[in-house]
Amino acid sequence: MSDSANDSGRDLENSYDPDNIFAKIIRGELPAFKVYEDEHTLAFMDIMPQVEGHTLVIPKAGGANIFDLSDEALRATITTTKKVASAVKQAFSAEGIMIAQLNGSAAGQTVFHLHFHVLPRNAGIELGLHNRLTVDHEVLAKHAEQIRAALETAG
Ligand code: 5GP
Repeated sequence: MSDSANDSGRDLENSYDPDNIFAKIIRGELPAFKVYEDEHTLAFMDIMPQVEGHTLVIPKAGGANIFDLSDEALRATITTTKKVASAVKQAFSAEGIMIAQLNGSAAGQTVFHLHFHVLPRNAGIELGLHNRLTVDHEVLAKHAEQIRAALETAG
């Protein structure tokens, strides 16, 4: 593989599907437990959380992975990720926060609209399996409310 192919990473996935699940959530065609939204980004609860409080942060701009988004869109997304991570840390009294972002099926990516996972971590609590167990919607609604409250406190 040439250096330029490595740099662009465009060989990861063929093309962006504007009808992927997260694009539909952005357009309001599918529901989500939202915790934060601004002009460029959206954050909502992962429907199959690997730990209580597992939240996703996405750009509103379309792009399958980190190589497909403009630097501007990535900056907005990581800024929101930091803001949401701080609120998740507070809401779930987490000792640590794990932030994960997967690019390409070989890396474990399953939804091809770029997203950052925000996972509160505490010693002795292992992560559940990726993409497996759904949780009651009332529980997700309550967790979203806890994170929104922490965001409001932070101003
Ligand atoms: P990836 O595997 O691409 O890094 O992460 C995709 C994430 O999206 C997984 O953690 C999975 O649980 C989550 N997910 C899949 N479908 C939906 C959905 O319809 N709504 C929400 N909120 N999350 C989803």
